[in-house]
Amino acid sequence: VIERSEIMRAVKSTDTKPEMIVRRLIHRLGYRYQLHRPDLSGKPDLTFVSRRKVVFVHGCFWHGHGCKRGARMPTTNAEYWRQKIDRNRNRDSATQVSLAQEGWRVLIIWECEINNMALEDRLRTFLEQNSTA
Ligand SMILES: [Zn+2]
Repeated sequence: VIERSEIMRAVKSTDTKPEMIVRRLIHRLGYRYQLHRPDLSGKPDLTFVSRRKVVFVHGCFWHGHGCKRGARMPTTNAEYWRQKIDRNRNRDSATQVSLAQEGWRVLIIWECEINNMALEDRLRTFLEQNSTA
């Protein structure tokens, strides 16, 4: 029997698989980060304090990505899900605006981009960019 809490963890965990893959990759690249800082808007998945940068890893469904996976909508309660995802998207935009206003640079990595060979370069470029540029 699968406990409800286990299902919830699988569905909406702070340690979701795509996030773990990104964490491991960044760690392997030699960068150190903090996780889910509660004092920052949206509790970013990864925070690079000295670089003043944050990374979010977004699930395509939950955060309403414009990709195939993100467009797939459950047929039952479709309206409920659509509204829920719209709220998530609005919250994501608001979070990104506040972070930018507080001087943070934000990179969003979508779940569907995880296996992209360019991901490593993208991360490295983002993290090495001069923050004052
Ligand atoms: Zn996607």
